Amino acid sequence: MYFHDAETLERNKLEDLQVERLKETIGLAANSPYYSELFKKNNISADSIKTIDDVKKLPFTTKEDLRSQYPYGLLTRSLDDFVRLHASSGTTGTPTAVFYTQKDLDTWADLMARSMYAVGLRKSDVLQNMSGYGLFTGGLGIHYGSERLGCLTVPAGAGNTKRQIKLIRDYSVTALHIIPSFALYFAAKVRDEGFDPADMPWNVALIGAEPHTEHTRRKIEEMLCIKAYNSYGLSEMNGPGVAFECKEQDGMHVWEDSFIAEIIDPETGEHVEDGQIGELVMTTLTREGMPIIRYRTRDLTRFIPGQCKCGRTSRRIDRIMGRADDMLILKGVNIYPMQIEKIIMGIPEVGENYLIELVKEGLMDQIKIKVEIKEEHFVEDMRALQGIQKKIASMLRDEILITPRVELVQHNSIPKTEGKAVRVVDLRGDED
Ligand code: ADP
Ligand code: ZN
Repeated sequence: MYFHDAETLERNKLEDLQVERLKETIGLAANSPYYSELFKKNNISADSIKTIDDVKKLPFTTKEDLRSQYPYGLLTRSLDDFVRLHASSGTTGTPTAVFYTQKDLDTWADLMARSMYAVGLRKSDVLQNMSGYGLFTGGLGIHYGSERLGCLTVPAGAGNTKRQIKLIRDYSVTALHIIPSFALYFAAKVRDEGFDPADMPWNVALIGAEPHTEHTRRKIEEMLCIKAYNSYGLSEMNGPGVAFECKEQDGMHVWEDSFIAEIIDPETGEHVEDGQIGELVMTTLTREGMPIIRYRTRDLTRFIPGQCKCGRTSRRIDRIMGRADDMLILKGVNIYPMQIEKIIMGIPEVGENYLIELVKEGLMDQIKIKVEIKEEHFVEDMRALQGIQKKIASMLRDEILITPRVELVQHNSIPKTEGKAVRVVDLRGDED
């Protein structure tokens, strides 16, 4: 029950394939202005690679390198050979652009189709793509993968919940592609519109593009009466379809015949021990137009040791904890937004959304967390609400070691951004 033979290749065969493709990739990359110079400087050629471990000899490529080469510095061919470009959403600064030849688009669509197949989708499914189209890869990337699998594909785009619901009902949509933060909002909206999610035609949601916790996934599953599968990707590695959960929901399989994944200590650049958390580094193995070598994703995760019950032999990464850049340092303590989400979304009274605000109180930095509370609790008396507030603050204290200010707010009162959720706002500069 696999889409492609590569999914179950024995490890040594898979590694042989990776070595072969890495050599090819180095050969191709040497045609780009950026890598040709870098390889010359560091005396690197395809011959530098004998075993998969030799990938460590290659230099890293960072987001800054891509920016400095914007837009064409990594292209291996003349512009005539390219048929599409995408650009990252620029969450952390200036965007970077990625270019695809027709062959690159075909490879990507195959990987996407494989990912969807792994969670049980088949050509009889009807998939509604609820992420924004345009430069963001979650639109066209998912779209072409779904068509490649043979699913009837509804290119709904982002937003407009009422219309989304109508399309889903009219066309008996069985699968959704939806960003997790929007999924929670959408689930609440479906109920507000008077529909019972259990009566909706959907079975499967593909959720990805932004960090979210296991609690959030479970909440999405319960609220929508759906099975939700985590999907990881980034524009620099095509977009979605880099690593995907299978039906076991126990980590995301990296499609290792197309990518080399490494996890390094972000300080030293050395590989961490298996199972330890570090920064994910990715190399393309099947991209001809714009290969990227040892890309520092800034995403923090770990390899899940052992083999998956599904029989696929590729390694799995754990859900992304966040980006290295997301780390907040407050009162000398390092805090990741996902630590906060992990606690908040596990509390039964909490609704669908939250926002972390960094504020100044006097001279001190303080962390304030706005938490939407389910409607039925908002009508409770003051004392009950204070009880909830205290509970959240003390549970957060146990996790992040400082006591945040917690403000309970009403269902739907935190503005919902289209696309990736903004979880943290820094209001410290505004006060003086
Ligand atoms: P940008 O870097 O501007 O957001 P992309 O659209 O390429 O541009 O987004 C890729 C990033 O999105 C990844 O590096 C990662 O931080 C995040 N991301 C994608 N999928 C997931 C996921 N399933 N879980 C957590 N984070 C994810
Ligand atoms: Zn599996």
